Amino acid sequence: MRTGAESTWRVTWRKPFVRRLALLGALLLIVAGSMLLKSGTIAFWQVASGTGRLVMTIVDDTTGVSTPVRIRLTNAQGEPVVPPDNALAVMWGRFDAAENFASLPNGDFYTEGAFELTLPAGIYQLRISKGYEYLEQEHEVVIAADEEVLETYRMARWVDMPSRGWVSADDHIHLRRSPRDNPAILGWIAAEDLQVGTLLQMGDFWATYYSQYAWGLDGVYHVEDRLLASGQEDPRTHERGHTISLAADDFVRLEDPALSQGPSGYYYYDQVFDRIHELGGMTGYAHQAVTFHGYRGLTLDVLRDKVDFLELLQFCAADGPLHTDHYYHFLNLGFELTATAGSDFPWCGRSPNSADPRIGDARFYAYVGDEFTFETWRESVRDGHTFVTSGPIVELTVNEAMPGDRVDIESGSALRITARAQGHATQIPLEELEIVAHGVVIESVSARDPNQSSERLAVTMSLPVDHGVWIAARTRAGPTQIAHSTPVYVTVSGSGFHSPDTLEEYLDLSGQYLDELQEEIAQPNDSLDHLAWRDRDGLEEQIAETREVIAKLRRELGDGE
Ligand SMILES: [Zn+2]
Repeated sequence: MRTGAESTWRVTWRKPFVRRLALLGALLLIVAGSMLLKSGTIAFWQVASGTGRLVMTIVDDTTGVSTPVRIRLTNAQGEPVVPPDNALAVMWGRFDAAENFASLPNGDFYTEGAFELTLPAGIYQLRISKGYEYLEQEHEVVIAADEEVLETYRMARWVDMPSRGWVSADDHIHLRRSPRDNPAILGWIAAEDLQVGTLLQMGDFWATYYSQYAWGLDGVYHVEDRLLASGQEDPRTHERGHTISLAADDFVRLEDPALSQGPSGYYYYDQVFDRIHELGGMTGYAHQAVTFHGYRGLTLDVLRDKVDFLELLQFCAADGPLHTDHYYHFLNLGFELTATAGSDFPWCGRSPNSADPRIGDARFYAYVGDEFTFETWRESVRDGHTFVTSGPIVELTVNEAMPGDRVDIESGSALRITARAQGHATQIPLEELEIVAHGVVIESVSARDPNQSSERLAVTMSLPVDHGVWIAARTRAGPTQIAHSTPVYVTVSGSGFHSPDTLEEYLDLSGQYLDELQEEIAQPNDSLDHLAWRDRDGLEEQIAETREVIAKLRRELGDGE
């Protein structure tokens, strides 16, 4: 579409008289514009084209009630507009610095469901989104001078997981929180259609960031079908990884290491984990244990039964969001590990080096059934009833058991495995669904197969087993759209579920990771990213304990297989 101003200019070039008149007019506008510009009230080019008003309401298609959403509104140059005064505003910033509050990192904003904006006349691109279960909308909005555009948009779902007992969570959001911040932060969570937002107080060797005002149930803010809860990303070091603890009744940090010249204790993660468990919480490693040498810490703490979950899906690591190497390593050694996911907002983002961190871009679902409370959610995560996703839905049962469950059978009997993936033809077009056993794909269907589609993939299979095994489902859709379930753990007459095929390989690898850490702490080092040597004695003890576990597994599982 062409604006009136542009067509006027086109005509003037052909008619010298009109052209002179127009130039005179333009001169007058420049003078008037500069005067207005000086007074700081309005930009010059707005005078030339005028301003109009946009009045927008967004409602849920099912209820007809206004609903929080994410808005991207850009002008003809592709620049995001200044958010409306009533945009849902929360101060955010990396390392707790105040970077912005109403505008999100890429210039989007969150609205509770209605807003008004005065905008220079022109054509705007509008994108409305609300997490993954709702269909995104894109519109062109034309603002004409002195006119008002009234629009109501209806947000429709393509799938409704809460109605089936599954609630979504982001386990990794960094926002400072006082009780007064709760409504706005919950608005952000609602605009990304998460049911649970866990806000992580972050720590490092020297300090803590993103303070939370209360812990456990006292720190839960629950309104209707959504809640906020406190957690921590601490301890967090370069040499043995970043950890997350969820849903504990208190923040746990060993005495301030920065005050100590000798052993600091900051690297004794296991002491924090033990205390978190006493406080009813759950412990895990962040960033797929890929970055910050998280796999070293994972080795120490999974093999000594200190860890409940791994953050399996996230966009921070390169080639994300799914990294299964360290996950399959410890599952194959016969250790249960629940899959969780989170954004690490305000860091990361969907594309490499992108300025587009988004709450909920990686999320995980937990099955709570009919009753959604903080306690039922915590119980569900503790039981491992989860899958992680950046879009598609994946569900799995093995002999009717769900992810996180244990199924014990007699040797030689057959497992009945069913898996189902759901997507949407344009927004989340499914490609394939895979059944994974001991890290190996044992069955796979594609959207091009008979009776399968880009919206629904299904597998039903029978698998005779004579030894323990873990079985998971994973599905792929469009670029970076992926989902992975926590496994169902199958044991045979009370056995374990480790993989005999990879046992030696993964025990050796575990030993190598311990060697790495031992090398790391061997010599004093002045670099800020290498302080673990200060806690050498305690770490040597932990390493020795873990080596004993490795030797025991080699002895007990390695023979007779
Ligand atoms: Zn981290």
